[in-house]
Amino acid sequence: ELILGIESSCDETSVAVVKDGNQILSNIVASQVKSHKRFGGVVPEVASRHHVEQITSCIHEALQEAQVDKKDLTAVAVTYGPGLVGALLIGVQAAKAFAWANDLPLVPVNHMAGHIYAACFAEKLRFPLLALVVSGGHTELVYMKEDASYEVIGQTRDDAAGEAYDKVGRVMGLSYPSGKEIDRLAPLGKDRYHFPRAMLNEDNFDFSFSGLKSAFINLTHNAQQRQEVLSQEDLAASFQASVVEVLVTKTIRAAKSYPVKQLIVAGGVAANHGLRETMKQKVSEQLPETQLIIPPLRLCGDNAAMIAAAGHVEFAKNRCADLSLNACPSLSF
Ligand code: ATP
Ligand code: MG
Ligand code: FE
Repeated sequence: ELILGIESSCDETSVAVVKDGNQILSNIVASQVKSHKRFGGVVPEVASRHHVEQITSCIHEALQEAQVDKKDLTAVAVTYGPGLVGALLIGVQAAKAFAWANDLPLVPVNHMAGHIYAACFAEKLRFPLLALVVSGGHTELVYMKEDASYEVIGQTRDDAAGEAYDKVGRVMGLSYPSGKEIDRLAPLGKDRYHFPRAMLNEDNFDFSFSGLKSAFINLTHNAQQRQEVLSQEDLAASFQASVVEVLVTKTIRAAKSYPVKQLIVAGGVAANHGLRETMKQKVSEQLPETQLIIPPLRLCGDNAAMIAAAGHVEFAKNRCADLSLNACPSLSF
């Protein structure tokens, strides 16, 4: 089975060919980060225009690199939400046109399911499992009883973890997206400021990052007024310590109360070294029976291989769409 995956929900145009749901034959990712940097965030109109310009050549490139002929494909899987409506529409229209022209089934995929299924390139998934999905727009704990079944047991009440990284990075004068740069600075500093650990002791699996963001902004603002220069490394270390402690503690607590075989950490923020290391350590200490899966760095951010992998299980369940498929910008599980 060969699935062509298409992803265009935000600022990455990506097309991949995946064999049997777990072998990546190609995974072309055209990032637009450079074009959005000077605006300090993703500009929807700019994103849509880039997708239009890139999508056709990404499809050709993905097929060529995989050395797969169009007529040997089994299905086309495409992200239809959540994301920017104009960006999603480019991928959805391209997928529909390609499926129609080549007489292939069209499989709609939830972008967040894609992030979770990135884990299947590292390990075979065993259920029930729990997934912590941490990205630019989401922070969710998802319980999966079986393939393609999703129950959100906790989520952020305000900002997503990646969004908090990007906002705090802006205050530090770092360029967008700043998660990676804060991650680089953090091990060079100390947790000197002890920012709040929101909702850590509450009896639920929800998160909140806006209080942390405010505490961070107040601290830097007050320092500025005193004309005091704070160490970027200590700020990064303190911010990251708070985010990581909350994410790891609540995820482990959830994994204990929903006994699961595997724990997945996925999404853009799963590329964070502090989170990866602490999660590995705490899971081996406190959940020795649970297998932790964190996708390799290049599969944590947005890419189409993960969409094809999620498409593989959707296709197996016969969940195909016809040509009336539309983008769903606020799609949830
Ligand atoms: P969503 O998946 O919720 O729709 P998105 O697709 O925009 O949102 P992703 O591409 O999955 O989000 O992730 C991007 C986010 O990951 C950004 O906020 C970025 O700052 C963050 N990020 C990337 N690398 C790291 C890192 N090493 N440490 C912390 N955050 C990181
Ligand atoms: Mg992105
Ligand atoms: Fe994403």
